[in-house]
Amino acid sequence: MRDQLGRNIHYMRISITDRCNLRCKYCMPEGIEHVPMEELLTYEEIEEIARMGAGLGIDTLRITGGEPLVRLGAVQLVAKLKQIPGVKRVCMTTNGVALAGAANELKDAGLDGVNISLDAADRRLAEEICGRDCYGQVLEGIDAAKAAGIPVKLNSVLAEGRNEEQWEALILLAAQKGTPIRFIEMMPVGYGKGFLPVDNRSLKEKIVKKYLDSYEEAENMESSLYGAGPASYIRLPGLSVSVGFISAIHGKFCHECNRVRLSSQGFLKSCLCYGMGADLKTPLREGRKEEVLSRLKRAIYEKPGEHCFEALEQMTEEKEMVRIGG
Ligand code: SAM
Ligand code: SF4
Repeated sequence: MRDQLGRNIHYMRISITDRCNLRCKYCMPEGIEHVPMEELLTYEEIEEIARMGAGLGIDTLRITGGEPLVRLGAVQLVAKLKQIPGVKRVCMTTNGVALAGAANELKDAGLDGVNISLDAADRRLAEEICGRDCYGQVLEGIDAAKAAGIPVKLNSVLAEGRNEEQWEALILLAAQKGTPIRFIEMMPVGYGKGFLPVDNRSLKEKIVKKYLDSYEEAENMESSLYGAGPASYIRLPGLSVSVGFISAIHGKFCHECNRVRLSSQGFLKSCLCYGMGADLKTPLREGRKEEVLSRLKRAIYEKPGEHCFEALEQMTEEKEMVRIGG
C-alpha cells in the first residue's frame, strides 16, 4: 500500500527472536537481557500478521533477528510464509553460524535468498568483533547456501578504528565465494552509537581507484538489480564481483524507502530512527483482528518521511538493534 508520501510499502522485515549466538559489540554485546519467550510472537501470530500485510500489498518478507536460525522451527516458518497468497519472496538475514546445517532445508522450504553478515575476512578480527570464534562456520554456511542453490549476498558493517581496512580482503573473499558484497554504513542505533561509521563515499572512491579505470566507469555499471533494497552497486569486472553500498548516513535513500519492520515482540516499526509504530500483539492476542489490521494500515500510512541520523537529538528510538530486528 502507499504511505502518506506515496511510497509503495511492500517489504516487511520480520524479526523472529531477540536471541543470538554471537555478541557483536555494536549490536548485542555481552550481558543483554532477553525478552521472556511468551512475549515473543508465536509463528502462528507472525503468519497471521504477514497474511494481513500481504492483503495490503506486502509481497516481500525478510526473516531476521537476533539470529533467526537460533529459533527452533525457523525453516518451517519460511515454508508457511511462502504459501501466503500475495507473498512473492521470502529471504533471510543471518550471521551464517548455523546455516550449513539448515541450507538444504531452507532451500526446500522455498527461501529466495540469504544475506550473510561478516565484518572481517580475518579470523581473529571477526572473533574480536562478534565475540565468538565463528569465522570457519560462517564460511561453511556461505558454501552450503550456495551449494543448495540459494542466492547469497554478503553484508559488512565497517567502523573507523575497528575494521575499516577490511574492505579489500572482504571483496576478495566475496570474489572467491562468487557472491556480491554490500558495505552497510554503521547507523547510530543502539550500541551502534558508540562506533564511527565509515563513509561509503570515500570507501567507494578507494575501491574505484584500486580496481577500476575511472569513476565514470563505476557509475555506469551501478545498478539495483540485486533485490528490493536500497543498495547501489558497482561491478568489478577484473574480479567478477559486484560491490554494493548501503549508505543510510551519507546517501540518504528515505525517499525510496519501501519497508516496515515487525519486531519479535509484535511491534510494527515504520522507521529505524523513531520509537513510533504500532503494537500489534495486544489486539492480536485479544482476538481483535480488525484492530490489528487498522493499526497495521495506520502505521504504514503514517511512516515518517525520513530518518534523522544527522540530528540525533530528534531520534526517539532507544532500543538496541537486536530488539528492533536488523
Ligand atoms: N543475526 C543476523 C545477522 O547478523 O545478519 C540478523 C540480525 S542483524 C541485527 C542484521 C544486520 O544488521 C547485520 O548485518 C548487522 O551487521 C546489522 N547491524 C546491526 N547493528 C547495526 C547498526 N547499528 N548499523 C548498521 N547495521 C547494523
Ligand atoms: Fe547477533 Fe546479528 Fe546482532 Fe551480531 S549483528 S549480535 S549476529 S543479531
